[in-house]
Amino acid sequence: MIEARPLQNILEAMSSKNDASLALVSKAYEFAKEAHKDQKRFSGDPYFTHPAEVAFLLAQAGMCPEAISAGLVHDTIEDAGTKPKAIEQEFGPEVLSLVEGVTKLGTLRYRGLERHTESLRKLFAATAKDIRVLIIKLMDRLHNARTLEHVPRAEKRARIAQETLEIYAPIADRLGMSVAKQELEDAAFPFAYPKEYEKTRELMKERKNENEKRLEKVEKDLKRALAEAGLREFRTEARIKGLYSLFRKLERKHWDIGKIYDIRALRIIFPTVADCYTALGVIHGEWRPVPGKIKDYIAFPKPNGYQSIHTTVYTGDGSALEMQLRTEAMHREAQYGIASHLSYKETQGGTAQGSRGGLEWIRQFLPAWRRGAGKDVGVGPSGSISVPAWVKELARADTAAEGASEEYLDTLKSDFFSHRVFVFTPKGDVIDLPLSATPIDFAYAVHSDLGNRMSGARVNGKLVSLDTPLRNGDMVEIVTKPPGRPTRKWHDIAKTSMAKKHIRAALATQQKKR
Ligand code: MN
Repeated sequence: MIEARPLQNILEAMSSKNDASLALVSKAYEFAKEAHKDQKRFSGDPYFTHPAEVAFLLAQAGMCPEAISAGLVHDTIEDAGTKPKAIEQEFGPEVLSLVEGVTKLGTLRYRGLERHTESLRKLFAATAKDIRVLIIKLMDRLHNARTLEHVPRAEKRARIAQETLEIYAPIADRLGMSVAKQELEDAAFPFAYPKEYEKTRELMKERKNENEKRLEKVEKDLKRALAEAGLREFRTEARIKGLYSLFRKLERKHWDIGKIYDIRALRIIFPTVADCYTALGVIHGEWRPVPGKIKDYIAFPKPNGYQSIHTTVYTGDGSALEMQLRTEAMHREAQYGIASHLSYKETQGGTAQGSRGGLEWIRQFLPAWRRGAGKDVGVGPSGSISVPAWVKELARADTAAEGASEEYLDTLKSDFFSHRVFVFTPKGDVIDLPLSATPIDFAYAVHSDLGNRMSGARVNGKLVSLDTPLRNGDMVEIVTKPPGRPTRKWHDIAKTSMAKKHIRAALATQQKKR
């Protein structure tokens, strides 16, 4: 049996250390510990080990004290019968709203329907009224994925693992949270694809030693070359590719591991952007670069905000090695993404690149918004960033970062909900429909046959008329008592062209029969 992570660990990991912040988190720690005191995890460990670990992950990611506190008490309403009122009294409305958001997300279920996966990702993003809810949920899942081996049924383990790979890891990726993404993937991989996991692990093991030796030599040569060029202030870090990510790449390369050059990469972290470009010159003077492998994500960040210069060089022993050059601020951003600048107001950390990262992420989810608001941060319709605008953006990034999270939130809500509604089948599948869609549209979106046999509909358990506009989160059940059949009126009520098309076809068939 393991002990819960001590409060001290969480407090030390926090980026905001004023008295009020520390007091709030300490109080939440004791509150959750008490609330879960009689409960156990599947592993037999005290239940409290889970929220304590979630809070620690949130603190490490640089989240604010309210989010860390919410992480501590996130399961108390559902699993310990704590009243929402009590949480509000103890910790205020902000913490309560975060906890309620996380609880609500927990009720959504992934059913493995390919075509609904993207909808579900969007629903997750939209349902979380506050982006912090999404991050708490990600860390909740990360700890649950890490302890997946203890979940009793194999079937359930596989479902959680699939859901983690299909829904949570892509969300972490879009939030730029690469550490969380890789950990989610690698925790879930063995349970989702056991055979492929073993095969990948074997291949990785074979290559590990030779890679390590080579890396050491290159690193030594690199340090010498950089020092000769006058670059002395930097640190290096070896990056090992995650097993799941390696597996995906192996699939694309027909399982030829010799074709994968970035199993290990060398990160070199400098104080300034100028150092990165100088170092690139030094590196290319020392080793021959692999053509087509030089990527300047500093001038042209990835859609999720990622910034670094990548180059792969021939290391003279018949092999090649990827190097990634970045600043400390870019490094933090690359690891923790959006989370790293939600709480950075206080600590003045280098957030120069931060705000843009988040905006880019939202743009991926919201194509319409991309066309509108993209202009004032210098992003063209294609999402590419022109250099002058980028420079301008850097100059005003400090102030931009402040309102950034609120900006995401507003955009997420207004743009997202103004165009689509997401409703559920009784099994929990998500159906994505245009605004003011009706049960008729829903039925035809599920299956044309269901539409044609429909006689009525229940929304959230209540019988409704067929012209009732559906709202986000409604659970819709189609009643098929004979003689259900489409009418001309249905055609007028329906909002989607798919429903109208099927109704016309059905009406034409009825006509012929007569
Ligand atoms: Mn939980």
